[in-house]
This record gives sequence, structure tokens and C-alpha cells, in this order.
Amino acid sequence: MQSGNTNAMPTDRRRLSALRDAVVRQLIPWFQANARVLPWRETPRDPYHVWISEVMLQQTRVETVVDYYQRFMARFPTVAALAAAPQQVVLKAWEGLGYYSRARNLQAAARAMVAQHGGRLPAAPAVLAALPGLGPYTTAAIASFAFGLPLAVLDGNVMRVLSRLVAFTGDIATGPARRTLQALADALLPATAPGPANEAWMELGALVCTPRAPRCTACPLRPLCRAAQAGNPETYPVRSRKMDIPHKVVGAAVILNRHNEIMIAQRHPEKGMLAGLWEFPGGKLQPGETMEQCIARELYEEMRLRLEVGPRLTIVEHAYTHFTISLHAHFARILSGRPRHVDCAGHAWVHLPDMDTYPFSGADLKIIAALRALPGGQPRFRDYFSQQ
Ligand code: SF4
Repeated sequence: MQSGNTNAMPTDRRRLSALRDAVVRQLIPWFQANARVLPWRETPRDPYHVWISEVMLQQTRVETVVDYYQRFMARFPTVAALAAAPQQVVLKAWEGLGYYSRARNLQAAARAMVAQHGGRLPAAPAVLAALPGLGPYTTAAIASFAFGLPLAVLDGNVMRVLSRLVAFTGDIATGPARRTLQALADALLPATAPGPANEAWMELGALVCTPRAPRCTACPLRPLCRAAQAGNPETYPVRSRKMDIPHKVVGAAVILNRHNEIMIAQRHPEKGMLAGLWEFPGGKLQPGETMEQCIARELYEEMRLRLEVGPRLTIVEHAYTHFTISLHAHFARILSGRPRHVDCAGHAWVHLPDMDTYPFSGADLKIIAALRALPGGQPRFRDYFSQQ
């Protein structure tokens, strides 16, 4: 087993040469025979298609992405179409995919491409990397898949496969270990086929060298794999334990009026997570508060409204990257005040069917689903509040 010294190349020169050879002779042919048919994998690879698919695939499963990708491409077939669309339309197309800053960055980058690069993705990696939202991974993916440039990608799949191949014990949660694996990926990249080699590593990680129960007997690299030889592939990659993810309890108001319209609020378009999305307004439960008090306080702070908070509609459990929430949605009605946008960007009164035209986060979509599951398919003011 290699030491955890993360500064050195984690294998010797002779094995490096054998691995390089295996990438060309075994790994790429394996990929060509086994690659999944995916809508963004047409040949030759279109830079715009590569970019959109790679951004969608970050933190998201391939099966989920396929539908979103096809709808997104039908709606925004070119960089210019994406740049020209209203932000709300782009967010609506992204609704439910999560990590909404990806959608906002896509559009900001598309607008920069129109303004500075003739509506195309620039081929030069340094120019690509300067665009909003394009980190080293996305830059390397576009540069190699679409432009054939020799940049090695390093995502979670590639880190896992490389760690197992050379039995790398560096902690991949740390910068030095990642730099070591990046250096190994760079050293193994064939200049003649950087795109297919990159895709082959990723596909091997997705289909064969999986986090649990890797299928080593089906792996084209098995004869060279240190972890398979030692019989312990699942001990790699080494990753320090994640911090406990905090949990928050949050209240949200489903405010009804006598016309059975529901009030929704828009988050600031440029501020914080879920920026620009619509929501059922509310906020975090403070110590000592009841949920009703929490919702009433939040709505006064955000919109200067005084509410009667009524029965609970549902409790939604939802996970974000760095925390999880229990979201308690209660019906409410306005006792006094007109909505003011103290800590939100706007509001709208909408009937339930019309909610489809507004972009919401995944947690709020679950509230909408609970509303649709009510008897009659929508909420009625008179069922929760007196008419006086
Ligand atoms: S032999 Fe097994 S552990 Fe090694 S790279 Fe292949 S699938 Fe992964």
C-alpha cells in the first residue's frame, strides 16, 4: 500500500507507464464497447451540449438529468437562446434539479459568451475558466470532450477509480490529496484521445468501479489494480468523516384569501441560496417559540403582515447540501397589513393551478404537492377560517 504522503506521485515510474498503456489498450476500448447511450453523447461533441450536460450532472444522477437535459435543450437550443431568456424561465426549467446557482451561472456565462465570444463557447481553457460557474472540472470536461484538448478531469468517480488502482491512502477531502490525484490523472491522459480517456474513467467509475461492491471481474484494469489484488477496494478512497449535517426546523405560511388564492413570495434574485425562486414565506423556528408564533413573526419581519396562523397542512423533510430541514407548512390568513417587501423581492396571489408558471425549490414543490392532494384538489379558505 502506498503511504499517505500526498505530495508524491502515488505510484512508481514503471507502473505509471503500464497504466498509461492500459488506458489506451484496455480502458478506451472498454468504454467504446460499453458506454451508455446518452442524449449528450452524439458525435462530434457539441461544446454547448457538453457544457449544459456536465453542469446538470454535477451532484445529480444521470437518470434524473436525461429528461431535464432534453427539455432544457428544446427550450434553449443555443447559447443565444439561453442568454436571451428571462431568468425566471431558466429557473423554471431547472426547477427540482437543486443547486440553483448552477442555473443562474449558466445564464450569466451564456450572456458573457454572447457579449464577448460571438455566442460560442471559447476553446481556450483559461478563457473558459474565467466564465461564471466554470470550475476546473467543467473546464476540463468541455476542453477535452468538445475541443480535444489534453486536460484531465477529476470528479468523484475518477478519484475513486484512481485511488483504488494505486491504493492511495491520502484523504481525498483534502487539497493536497486531490492535487496528487489530479497529477496522476494528468500523467495518465493520452494526448491522442483525451476526451475518450476522460469519459472512460468516469464511465468505469459509474458502471463498474462503484462505491459499493465494485465489479472487479468485469474491469478492464483489474490486472493492474492494487486494491483488487489486496481484496479491499471498498476501503478506497480514504475520506475523513463528514461533519454532522445540521438540521433546521422551519415554518412556512400558506396564506389564503377569500378567493382561495395563495400568496407566494419571491426571494431576492441576487442574494443567498435559492435566489430568485418563489416560496411559501416563513423562516427558522427560534428557541421557545411555537410554530404558529414562528410563522407569524417571520411574516411580520419579511412583509409587515399580521397573520392568523391556522392548521398545519404538512411537514416536509428536505435535504440541502449542508443541512436538512423539517418544513412545517401552516395555512394562514392576513389579519392586517398589506404585503411589503422588507426581506423579499416581491409577492403574488395565485390559484393553485397557476403555480406551475413560477419556479420553486424542491421543498416548496412538496408543499404544492400536498395542496394538490387535498380533497377537491385545492385549498378553500372557508375550510380553515371563519368568513368574518
Ligand atoms: S479492479 Fe475493481 S477496484 Fe480496481 S479499478 Fe477495477 S473495479 Fe475498481
